[in-house]
Amino acid sequence: MGAKNNILSGVSDTSSDEFYTPIPKGYEPGNTKYVITFGTVMSGLGKGIFSSSLAKVLKDKGFRVSPIKLEGYLNIDSGTLNPFRHGEVFVLDDGMECDMDLGTYERLLDINLTKDNFSTNGQLFSKILENERDGKFLGRDVQFIPHVTGEIKLMLRELAMKSKADVVFVEIGGTVGDIENSHYIEAMRELAYEEGEGNVCFAALTYIIEPDFLGEQKSKAAQLGIRNLQSRGIQPHIIACRAKNNISQGIKEKISINANIPTNRVFDMHDVDSIYLIPSKIIEEKIDFRVLKILGLEDKADSKKGLVEKKKWDELTRKALEKPKKEVVIGITGKYTKIRDAYASILKALEHSGLALGVRVKTKWIETTKIESGELSVNEAFRGVDGVIIPGGFGKRGIEGKILCAKHARENKIPFLGICLGFQMAVIDYARCVCGLKGANSTEFEDSPSHKVIDYLPEQLKIEGFGGNMRLGGRDVDVKKNSYASKVYDDKTCIRERFRHRYEVNPEYIKKIEDKGLIFSGKAPNQPIMQILELVDHPYFVGVQYHPEFLSRPLRPAPLFYELVRASRK
Ligand code: GLN
Repeated sequence: MGAKNNILSGVSDTSSDEFYTPIPKGYEPGNTKYVITFGTVMSGLGKGIFSSSLAKVLKDKGFRVSPIKLEGYLNIDSGTLNPFRHGEVFVLDDGMECDMDLGTYERLLDINLTKDNFSTNGQLFSKILENERDGKFLGRDVQFIPHVTGEIKLMLRELAMKSKADVVFVEIGGTVGDIENSHYIEAMRELAYEEGEGNVCFAALTYIIEPDFLGEQKSKAAQLGIRNLQSRGIQPHIIACRAKNNISQGIKEKISINANIPTNRVFDMHDVDSIYLIPSKIIEEKIDFRVLKILGLEDKADSKKGLVEKKKWDELTRKALEKPKKEVVIGITGKYTKIRDAYASILKALEHSGLALGVRVKTKWIETTKIESGELSVNEAFRGVDGVIIPGGFGKRGIEGKILCAKHARENKIPFLGICLGFQMAVIDYARCVCGLKGANSTEFEDSPSHKVIDYLPEQLKIEGFGGNMRLGGRDVDVKKNSYASKVYDDKTCIRERFRHRYEVNPEYIKKIEDKGLIFSGKAPNQPIMQILELVDHPYFVGVQYHPEFLSRPLRPAPLFYELVRASRK
């Protein structure tokens, strides 16, 4: 049992006691502070962006920060979620398949996260049920309070210790009032009580409506949302108001009197043109200053460092707002073409590259099922397109159309980046059209094609079940000396990128394909898994078995995207 403050000295780590709170060994309350963000009124307010931007501002001032997202769904991870419904599956270095919000955290904070930074109800309940089967609660009925809430607090405190964070940023998924996050909210109430005054800051994000038929701002929904939070025993310390326009002083006053907090803790967070503006908005509104004060950390802020980082960020924001005249159109093929969230990291990586190169990157979605059915010609699909990406994907739909797109880009010297599935499409086209391997295909789409150029990874065959059975997470890639890839990666001979796949280039075909001119310039160390392909005699034709988009950061665009945009600009 760790050291305790007054309140924690009364708790018990015996699960049969009522004041059960398991505490990690050596845990000292107050060493790590917590900022906990809730959303009220409705979902989609950008809790993740708010929480990560606030964390960024504190990180810039020299604080060690660690975020965590607590998800309400029962899936163990996001791996089995349809990107069409839930946005892209973001993959962390340790192989965790998580919510796309973790991508926002990694990009804004410029740090690598792990499975400790993400939890779902599925993970939480599995752990509790495992403990129950192991006899950990013997003789005791396992309850939401204290056992589930105890487990949640334990998770946060373990993150605090492991990350050695000064401040842990907790984002509660969903909206206050949802059934699936009510135990998280209760756990946060308990946490604040146990950690003591000044160690936890509750931030409520809310929405001020402004219906067209009234033409004025209305705060009732926001008030009710905050009341709902208060009815759960949580008094927010700060309230950030999303709104279409700047919120009026009158609205601030209404929220203030209703929520028991002074107006200087009610903040305007109205819609802005770019998410890059949120950190600056936080500083402008002095939210960081208030939060540091609430947590008693104001004296520890390194304002000099804060200013240096702010300058770099402001420069990026300036570029983001500039809207350059020069435009590059990147075609993206895919079946989730109706929803931008399904390709969030790719779009971000393109944006980062555009900012660095001073061009505006526009996207044109290419529906490959239409190419496949003959409804749309490839020529037509590529009209106005300067470069093309075939992104990752699963399943058969639109595959033949994608292979035709790879072929078209190859033959017409259109800059091309194939990602994961896109890499495999390029290999199939090359096998069929250049190597003369008629009927070449992937066993993902056809049981026994005449040439299985893409086949199941032997190591994946051993893994059973539907979730978490891919080759996942960060892996090393050996880069061929003097190749184009090595040039792109600053002459490095080994890089690390993130993977998520079950299929690979069949090793039996590597030589046949290379003999006809395609270069596999990146391979897995000690295994014949091909990871980068390139063509000479082409302005830019690169395929990668990994997902370079996951490592792109606003101030450090992923090199392969940067080069794609650069080649497409010409
Ligand atoms: N479906 C392919 C595979 O499993 C590609 C996966 C992907 O694009 N992420 O290998």
